[in-house]
Amino acid sequence: MSNKLKERTTSFKDSLQIKEQGLYPYFRAIESGQDTEVKIRGQRVLMFGSNSYLGLTNHPKVIEASQKAAIQYGTGCAGSRFLNGTLDLHEQLEAKLAEHTGKEDALLFSTGFQANLGALSCITGRHDYILLDERNHASIIDGSRLSFSKVIKYAHNNPKDLEKKLSLLPEESLKLIATDGIFSMEGDIVRLPEMVEVAKAYDAAIVVDDAHSLGVIGEKGAGTASYFGLTDEVDLIVGTFSKSLASLGGFIAGTKDSIEYLKHKARSVMFSASMPPSAVASTLAALEIMREEPEHMQRLWDNTHYMKSLLVENGFDLGKTESPILPVYIRDSEKTFRITQMLFENGVFVNPVVSPAVPSEESLIRLSLMATHTFDQIEEAVDKMIKARTALRIGTLDTATI
Ligand code: PMP
Repeated sequence: MSNKLKERTTSFKDSLQIKEQGLYPYFRAIESGQDTEVKIRGQRVLMFGSNSYLGLTNHPKVIEASQKAAIQYGTGCAGSRFLNGTLDLHEQLEAKLAEHTGKEDALLFSTGFQANLGALSCITGRHDYILLDERNHASIIDGSRLSFSKVIKYAHNNPKDLEKKLSLLPEESLKLIATDGIFSMEGDIVRLPEMVEVAKAYDAAIVVDDAHSLGVIGEKGAGTASYFGLTDEVDLIVGTFSKSLASLGGFIAGTKDSIEYLKHKARSVMFSASMPPSAVASTLAALEIMREEPEHMQRLWDNTHYMKSLLVENGFDLGKTESPILPVYIRDSEKTFRITQMLFENGVFVNPVVSPAVPSEESLIRLSLMATHTFDQIEEAVDKMIKARTALRIGTLDTATI
């Protein structure tokens, strides 16, 4: 082995102090089906860290569709959409997604990450500009970097700052604004009406990443543009199947011409194998359930409001969330790891979010609701959070973090 590589990997391992402290919270293997209660290291754990907002990963119709597709089409596509990897199933899902989002056409990618990577890297070039919310998802940032365009960040969810930045750019250049619809850590919704106004004033295109908005907001869960009635004003909608749609994969929806462009320019679709049949079929089934059974989205929101009200009543600082993502601000990274570990030992799974995902003073534990949680499970989790907070001497919103 190269000595230099050995030095690099060993020094990284040594930097993982949280492992020595017994606070390492990542890569915890689940040994059971994935619902609101899972088994980890033989223990029952309440799951408050999943993105399966509608709780459809165990839905019999979704499982059956996935099984049937594997039997009919095989387990994989062994090629990219561009070449041998296009099935009629892929085209069916694209047509349904175009209809669902209110766009002319859609294109599948093998993950949501690849959708952002592919689109953001190929639309703008060296002489163009990409404007990013400072809290956008990593896949948007990475895609922008690959474009060789000039990347400018604007203050989080701040149309005024966006306008300031746009006003300094040359009129003739192509400008692309990319934003999350619901922000994945903070849980707030993009101020789309004002962003769209600014975009129009400067002839900028706008891409909204609806990873956390599909199945959560908008007509039948159609996402952010639908929620604000601005479907025609948003140029491209990005989505993932790894959250509400209970599968794996991603897509981009837009005009026929923009999808045609992406089909021939987005390298992550042209040079990577297409979604396997079982994943396409489970997405199709979940999409149908989402559209036909509004009760799942209703239950998700009932659960969200219930848990949010309990947490706020008990003095937890939830920032500006407006969604089933409930960030509980701890504002100290070590305490964030400690409360995550204590909750885990007491049977509650939450995700710690620390730097570089957020600035350290904004460290938080991220809880996310599912339609399938019960009020009893929510009460149990909140009760355990109150106990952990007391044991770790973490302050309430009134007393400030101590
Ligand atoms: N965009 C956002 C906002 C996300 O949160 C995620 C996943 N966490 C992705 C894109 C990537 O989606 P996928 O899991 O399908 O790769």
